[in-house]
Parts: sequence; structure tokens; C-alpha cells
Amino acid sequence: MSFDVQIIGGGLAGSEAAWQLAEAGLRVRLSEMRGGGDTTPAHETDRLAEMVCSNSFRSDDAEHNAVGLLHQEMRDLGSLIMRAADQHRVPAGSALAVDREKFAEEVTRTVSDHPNIAIVRERIDALPDHPTIIATGPLTGSALAEAIAVETGQGALAFFDAIAPIIHRDSVDMDVAWMAARWDKGGKDYINCPLDKPQYEDFIAALNAGEKMPFKEWEKDTPYFEGCMPIEVMAERGPETLRHGPMKPVGLDNPRTGRWPYAVVQLRQDNALGTLWNMVGFQTKLKHGEQVRIFRTIPGLENAEFARLGGIHRNSFINSPRLLDSELRLKSKPSIRFAGQITGCEGYVESAAVGIYAARSAAAELRGERFAAPPIETALGALLAHITGGADAETYQPMNVNFGLMPPPDTRAKKADRKKAYTDRARAAFAVWLDTLKVAEPA
Ligand SMILES: Cc1cc2nc3c(=O)[nH]c(=O)nc-3n(C[C@H](O)[C@H](O)[C@H](O)COP(=O)(O)OP(=O)(O)OC[C@H]3O[C@@H](n4cnc5c(N)ncnc54)[C@H](O)[C@@H]3O)c2cc1C
Repeated sequence: MSFDVQIIGGGLAGSEAAWQLAEAGLRVRLSEMRGGGDTTPAHETDRLAEMVCSNSFRSDDAEHNAVGLLHQEMRDLGSLIMRAADQHRVPAGSALAVDREKFAEEVTRTVSDHPNIAIVRERIDALPDHPTIIATGPLTGSALAEAIAVETGQGALAFFDAIAPIIHRDSVDMDVAWMAARWDKGGKDYINCPLDKPQYEDFIAALNAGEKMPFKEWEKDTPYFEGCMPIEVMAERGPETLRHGPMKPVGLDNPRTGRWPYAVVQLRQDNALGTLWNMVGFQTKLKHGEQVRIFRTIPGLENAEFARLGGIHRNSFINSPRLLDSELRLKSKPSIRFAGQITGCEGYVESAAVGIYAARSAAAELRGERFAAPPIETALGALLAHITGGADAETYQPMNVNFGLMPPPDTRAKKADRKKAYTDRARAAFAVWLDTLKVAEPA
């Protein structure tokens, strides 16, 4: 079958993108290497949309949770992944968990049966010259990864993430923390959280005792890059190591004491909106619950709300804010779009959602129609805005959808009501955007 678009990778993003394009009347060649003699270290079957770890799509609460809201927006966009998940849901409280085998079988069958899709079990090793969506995920085949690296240039494709936790700015206690840059150089760009000697010593002891996530067998050769060593590894090397590394207090006068603290934790702005701040140099393999417990002992962070917790994994992802335009096209080769986790979104749901958008924008382009991104007030719009420019390209690391990616709503309401304010506003904005899709105008 001749085709209009090739999709490389039949995971969560690629399957969804294939379905969306096919439903739009375009012919798709879906190239998936599993089932053709290749696999990844994490996949166990040759089914499309295999969930490699947990069987959960996380919260399904569209009123108080950003990922639940994204579920709803995806349903509104006719998502195959959401339809199959809803069909094969298993009891999991307010979360959407699925029978992973039935779910993947459903997606595989539906995509295979679509007359506009040809699934080809082949590994792709080079960047095609025709319209293509690359959705090869966190474990992209090495030859293709090499080709992407050559096209995108020095350091633009990462093979491992090194994620420092990210905190919602409005949950930091600024009666304790203060804004400053070291030696007052430049603007007061960092939030500084001060620790005295006993607090620092307790913190180091907690890091040493904290439970860590083991590396998977095939991740054991994960290199620790210069400047990206996990904080607990630094703490193990000696009690002073962190105080001479990311917790260095020199040049940081605490306005409340007039002196440098014994140690400091710095937060740096992580998105253009200024709602999210990352803990500088705090990449970690501590278990998530341990991160929350231990990091909330840092003065100023007692009530910190984490938009993302730290981690280090094997994970291929490109520097999307630098490389992609607003329609996920590679600026240097616009016939190529990226979708899924390789764009630096994180998670099954986010990957599939980005797959929808890549497909819809590709379909519009091929049909000569104008296509606008969903507004930043929506979950999908916020995620896309982050990937394609809202995130800081210098510190870009994978990101889940969360309310911190959206502009704060104009309300002083309590926490639960604030979440509802985000989702009410999002629903209204999404409905207006959906209407514009129904009357697509010529470009
Ligand atoms: C070990 C591990 C555990 C994870 N656990 C979770 C979790 O619990 N929850 C969660 O939400 N997310 C988890 N993730 C992230 C998860 O992988 C993504 O959320 C999701 O699968 C990404 O979707 P995707 O479509 O981008 O990539 P994938 O689903 O990985 O799909 C990519 C597809 O591309 C194929 N492919 C790769 N290279 C080529 C090539 N050169 N030619 C042809 N085909 C190719 C692969 O075989 C694969 O089928 C985990 C990831 C890993 C690695």
C-alpha cells in the first residue's frame, strides 16, 4: 500500500497517531520493529501499545487532577488509547487502570483492522525524506537514535534522564526562603532555602538512610554524567560533599541573619510561566515517597508540592524546546515530526496525547488546512506549550502533565477549589478549540 505518512514506533504514541491519521482519511505505514526480529529491553510482546511497567493511566478525576483532565480531552478527540483503556478498565479507585493484555490486544486489533493502516514489522535505522512521525519512545533503536543525533547535533538527544524534583512555586514558604543569586551577581534569580548545621547533618543522615530505587538489569551501565550525580551518591562520599556541591552556601547572604547559611538548597525557574521551580543539582534515585518525606525537612519546603519527583533512567529524548516547532516538526527537517516520550513528555497518557496532536497537525498540513494548537489553559495545550518552548531548553528533562504547566487561574480559592478552577477554565477553553476543528479553514 502506498502511504501518506510513515509512523515509526507502534507504542502508545505511534498507535494513537496512526489511528488519528487513518480516521482523518490518510494512509499510514506503521513501522514497528517488535515482531520483526527486534525488541527493546523492556517490552515482552509484539503487541502495539504494550504497557511496559504499571497498568495504570493514573487519576481519572477530570475535575481535580491534570492527568484526569487530559484523559477527558483525549476522549473528546476520539482517542483510541482512551477508548481501549475504558473498555478494559479494572477496579482501581479513582485511577484508570487496565487489563494490560486485553488493552494492548484491543489496540493491536483495531489498528490492524483499519483499512488505511498497514502495520509493517520492520526496524527503521535512518530518517526518511517523506512525511514521518517518529514515536520510538524511551528505548529507541540505536541506529535510528544515532541518525537523530546526527541530524539534531551535539547533545540534543539524551540517552538517560537525570531528573531533579520540580516544585510548585506557590508552595514554597518565602518567609523562610529568599530570592538571590550567588554573590549578588545578575538578577535575584534563585529561591534559596537555608539549612543550619544540625539541619544539614540530619538531612545527610536521611539521604544515606533513605530507600533508593534500584537500576533495572539493563540500566546498570547507566553513566553518571559530570554534574549529574545523584545527591545520595554524593552524600555517601562524605558528609561535606554536598556542602561543596549543589548545597554550597558561599556568596548567599541570608537577609534574615545577614550571614551565609551552613548549607543551602537552590531552586531555579523551570518554565516560562514561572510556576515551576527545579531543585538545582538534586537528581536522585530515592524512592518517590522518600523524596517527599526527606525534601520536606528542608526549611522553606515543609509544604512543598511536587510537580515532578526525581529519577534517573534509560530514556531517549530530544531537546524539544530547542529542536521542534509548535507543531512538533523538526525545525531542521520539517517533514519529520516527533511524538510520544521521545519528545520529553513522560508517561503513557502524555505520550498518547502528544501522538494525537502530532497526527492531527500532520493531517491538517497534508490537507492544506490551518491548525492551531489547543490553548495553554487546557491540559493538552499546556503540555505541548511546555515541550515546544515553555520549558527551559538548558535544563530540559522529561515532564508529566500537571497544573504548574498552565497559567494560574485568577482565584485565591483553597487548594481543592483551585484545582477545580483550573479544570473549569480548561474545559471551557477546550470546547471552544474543539469547535474550531470542526470548521477547519484552508491554510
Ligand atoms: C522500564 C520502563 C518503565 C516504565 N514505566 C512506566 C509506567 O509505569 N507508567 C508510565 O506512564 N510510563 C512508564 N514508562 C514510560 C513509557 O515507556 C512511556 O510512558 C510510553 O510507553 C511511551 O510511549 P511511546 O509511544 O513514546 O513509546 P513506546 O510505548 O516505548 O513505543 C515505542 C515503540 O517504538 C518501537 N521502536 C523503537 N525503535 C524503533 C525503530 N528504530 N524502528 C521501529 N520501531 C522502533 C518500539 O519497539 C516500541 O514499540 C516506562 C518506561 C520504561 C522504559
